[in-house]
Amino acid sequence: MHEPSLDLAGPPDVYVRAAPPPPPTERLQDHRHVAVAVIGAGFTGLSAALHLAETGIDVAVLEAKDIGWGASGRAFGQVVPYLKPGHEAILRHYGAERGQRIVDAVAAGPDLVFELIGRHGIECWAMRSGLIFAAHSPGGRRDLGRRTQYWQQRGAPVEMLEGARCAEAIGSSLYPAASLDRRGGNINPFAYARGLAHAAAKTGATLHAQTPVRKLMRRNGRWAIDAGSAELTADNVVIATNAYTGDLWPGLRQSIIPMRGHGFVTEPLSDNVRHTILPERQSLTDTRLLYSGVRMLPDGRLHGSAHGPSFGAEPRADWRRVDARIRRLFPQLGAVKWQQAWTGWVAMTTDHFPRLHELAPGLYAGLGYNGRGIAAATMMGRDLATLVRGARDDATVFPLTPLRPLGWHRVAPTLVRGLVQVYRLRDMVDECRPGRAA
Ligand SMILES: Cc1cc2nc3c(=O)[nH]c(=O)nc-3n(C[C@H](O)[C@H](O)[C@H](O)COP(=O)(O)OP(=O)(O)OC[C@H]3O[C@@H](n4cnc5c(N)ncnc54)[C@H](O)[C@@H]3O)c2cc1C
Repeated sequence: MHEPSLDLAGPPDVYVRAAPPPPPTERLQDHRHVAVAVIGAGFTGLSAALHLAETGIDVAVLEAKDIGWGASGRAFGQVVPYLKPGHEAILRHYGAERGQRIVDAVAAGPDLVFELIGRHGIECWAMRSGLIFAAHSPGGRRDLGRRTQYWQQRGAPVEMLEGARCAEAIGSSLYPAASLDRRGGNINPFAYARGLAHAAAKTGATLHAQTPVRKLMRRNGRWAIDAGSAELTADNVVIATNAYTGDLWPGLRQSIIPMRGHGFVTEPLSDNVRHTILPERQSLTDTRLLYSGVRMLPDGRLHGSAHGPSFGAEPRADWRRVDARIRRLFPQLGAVKWQQAWTGWVAMTTDHFPRLHELAPGLYAGLGYNGRGIAAATMMGRDLATLVRGARDDATVFPLTPLRPLGWHRVAPTLVRGLVQVYRLRDMVDECRPGRAA
């Protein structure tokens, strides 16, 4: 097995090389006042800035590192029309009326992303050929069947693929059934982040990279934002730091559990092998509790996303496990040459729903996408812009909720590690159940 080199510094080379050049940014150096300061330049912050600038509002984005440096530039790239919980759980949690609004709005999340990509001419491998969600167990198959039926009744382009059709679509006979959801698609997420930043800048937003915000203070009815050598004052502030949230606001960091996600790519595959894998270029995930996915990149590399060590400074995914899984899925690969691996932080919440907060007058935050943030964070950015413009939360998709720091945040890593072991065991048991394999 050929182990990949591990890139912990930021978005992976494979994304960066294919992205547009960075937009014009400069470190904040002077003292000035803006109507809105956005902290964090991922999908949440950039979407908020773009939606605000589009209505003529003076907005500045402050980013500690570079545009798209956080999870946004490292995501697997699936633009999904769902949250981690399914529609039944959303309706139960939010009630029939609000719940249905959220289900419908989230289903239209990819429309928002692909519309922005089209309108602003963002070159980011955008491909809306759908998402394949495979059943790893009989229970998973029943669950997919239920979801597919629900969406079909609502006229959505979702279908079940069984037997030979499923094998053909995936390029593997490992799974007996899968759903194909044509509402979703795939992108280069780092290029999308840079494209959003270009769009925001062209629309009038100012972007300040390499500008870590150290402190937020309320002073004379305004927000004072300490960025080291420079200070910004703003009427409104949007905190869009998600899993990379520090101590800017008491309790915000403790309201989510940051967990690592892992990505990796192979060297380009030979012509005859690459055409046998996911021939219509959908991405593939399955119903296991521990997340993993694969897709083909435009240059013929196989790109995977897998569960690995959830915490720690320099974690390595378990290559033996990842390699074995991928070769079981696609035996035609032969020996796989993994080229590069990377990792980024995902913000989890205890109920797996995102959070929208008004932390103080004129201070807002949106976070907690549980690994489903490309569309949801873009929508959240739009929601944050809506609130800043003075609308109440019945005009947003996600409702405003009070900040709830987790009392057990300090021991979260220990608890999560235990839970991951339980999930791993359940996935293994489920996969052994009769009726799983074709
Ligand atoms: C490996 C991986 C795979 C994923 N795959 C998918 C997928 O396929 N599909 C999907 O929908 N979602 C996926 N996600 C989730 C998705 O990437 C995130 O939900 C989304 O990018 C969150 O965007 P964001 O803007 O809220 O946060 P981020 O992109 O993390 O941005 C936060 C930014 O805030 C900045 N910041 C932090 N503190 C400060 C400060 N004090 N001052 C200034 N700046 C600060 C950080 O530098 C960072 O750039 C994945 C995530 C990971 C890590």
